[in-house]
Amino acid sequence: MLVDILPVGPLQANCYLVTCAETRAALLIDPGWNSPAISEAIAARRADVRLIVNTHAHWDHIGGNAHFVQETGAPLALHHGDLPLLRRKGGAEAWGVPLPPSPEPDRLLNPGDVLEIGRLRFEVLFTPGHSPGHISLYEAAHRALFCGDVLFQRGIGRTDLPGGDAAALFRSIRDVLFALPDDVTVYPGHGPATTIGEERVGNPWVSI
Ligand SMILES: [Zn+2]
Repeated sequence: MLVDILPVGPLQANCYLVTCAETRAALLIDPGWNSPAISEAIAARRADVRLIVNTHAHWDHIGGNAHFVQETGAPLALHHGDLPLLRRKGGAEAWGVPLPPSPEPDRLLNPGDVLEIGRLRFEVLFTPGHSPGHISLYEAAHRALFCGDVLFQRGIGRTDLPGGDAAALFRSIRDVLFALPDDVTVYPGHGPATTIGEERVGNPWVSI
């Protein structure tokens, strides 16, 4: 499993290109901006992007949807709970950010769905709170979690945006993410990677 971490756009949201080392099939997570860095990473990996997933539909995670759906020809997927947000351009107008509208998703994701990308298997975990339809993707064989804006290194997602729910966010972290093993690498939507074990003991918001 090859992971490219690509901070893009005004808020430097992490876009992830996750490529199966054996087959070059790839998953593109949160193309938040029409950034050449994403195209360059796809070319450098010789990646065959099979699916584009939005962990959630805030504008800084969906801003490149239109461009990369067209460039890769891959279908777009997210949870239906964030579909209204996707159709409102992820709240971009409230931030004064001009954004092209996202295409409609080709697929709606449900908790427990498994996305097979080459030999990689990503399980869809339902982790609402930062947004109503926020999902995380867990690749168990490679101990990797892509959790968008739920959990950060020593931080958690904000819940003051429309549709945010602090109690739901804490449940998502404690009951869903902290159910994973300590050695799972956490690839968040902003900032550096961490691990479940490090955040379980060191995250001031949710440590136990
Ligand atoms: Zn967000």
